[in-house]
Amino acid sequence: MTGACVKGKSGAAVAAEARIIRLLMELRREGVTDTRVLSAIEKVPRERFVSSAFTDRAYENAALPIGSGQTISQPLVVARMTQELDLGERMKVLEIGTGSGYQTAVLAKLCRRVYTVERHRPLLAEAEERFRALGIHNVTARLGDGSRGWPEQAPFDRIIVTAAAHDIPPVLVGQLKPGGIMILPVGETDQDLVKVRRTEGGIDLSSFLPVRFVPLVEGLPED
Ligand code: SAH
Repeated sequence: MTGACVKGKSGAAVAAEARIIRLLMELRREGVTDTRVLSAIEKVPRERFVSSAFTDRAYENAALPIGSGQTISQPLVVARMTQELDLGERMKVLEIGTGSGYQTAVLAKLCRRVYTVERHRPLLAEAEERFRALGIHNVTARLGDGSRGWPEQAPFDRIIVTAAAHDIPPVLVGQLKPGGIMILPVGETDQDLVKVRRTEGGIDLSSFLPVRFVPLVEGLPED
């Protein structure tokens, strides 16, 4: 019954709500227990971060193509990375790999400001348009090679990298405040999410989830 209304909501809106609830239950089962993170995932409309061809699949727990050979991350991975970041509302966060802007929007709900870097111009332009349309004003986005971080804005309370590095980039560790946390996928075919905590004397490391991300690529493409 397309177009049918239940208490003023369209059938499509009700169906989307049911899909979001199912996704949130799945995330809980898979270890996402932080209610702030679950609530941020609930509030960010993932269907606005995928092309219309994928709207029906927006609330599946799956990565989806977003153009330029890249993907929007799986919701479980976005949620687990965000949870491990342990964000506070006054924090300044650096994100490498804006992609669709979905992870950025989730972060923006939980901290003071997100600085995000993307190397593909068309992806960056689309993500910025989504931030404007959704009224997300605490994001500063720029085109660049994020493997260099964002020296002018460093140091950061938190850093998240959403493309896989071969090793932990020392440049990024250097842009983290003491006590700060960085979450990133490390590895080539076998990757793990790694949590790096900067301490007075050096860094503490732990890994928490096997994943598959697109690679972190140095330099800029020609598009
Ligand atoms: N968080 C994104 C995931 C995007 S996939 C989302 O939720 O949609 C990873 C992104 O990292 C891609 O868009 C890719 O272009 C970008 N990327 C890879 N290497 C990069 C680099 N050195 N600097 C900036 N962005 C990079």
